[in-house]
Amino acid sequence: MDDLNPQQLAEFRQDLLELQRSLNEAVSLAREGARTVELDQPIGRLSRMDAIQNQQIAKAGLRNQQIRLRQVEAALIALNNGEYGLCKICELNIAYRRLKARPESPLCLECAEEMEQSRS
Ligand SMILES: [Zn+2]
Repeated sequence: MDDLNPQQLAEFRQDLLELQRSLNEAVSLAREGARTVELDQPIGRLSRMDAIQNQQIAKAGLRNQQIRLRQVEAALIALNNGEYGLCKICELNIAYRRLKARPESPLCLECAEEMEQSRS
């Protein structure tokens, strides 16, 4: 794989800024969702269980989005340092197609798969 050309880098910067904006929005929405269960709210037992379940889903989603947001921010910093698109482990170029699908990817496909396997 060749290095990314300036046009591709500009493209990924756009993608990342876009992603950062929508993740920021999603995080603040999820925060709202995680906060909605007030214990003294006069709601029935079942709907309270629903609300708590929704709250847990919202919290899990919030965590994922916050992790992704941090990766987006790290990728933007790497872009400014001229290090964007390099795998954090093996330092080889990450495939263009992979970056196109997830521009915040910190790892190449091989290293990401290895991480998955060592985790499970
Ligand atoms: Zn790698």
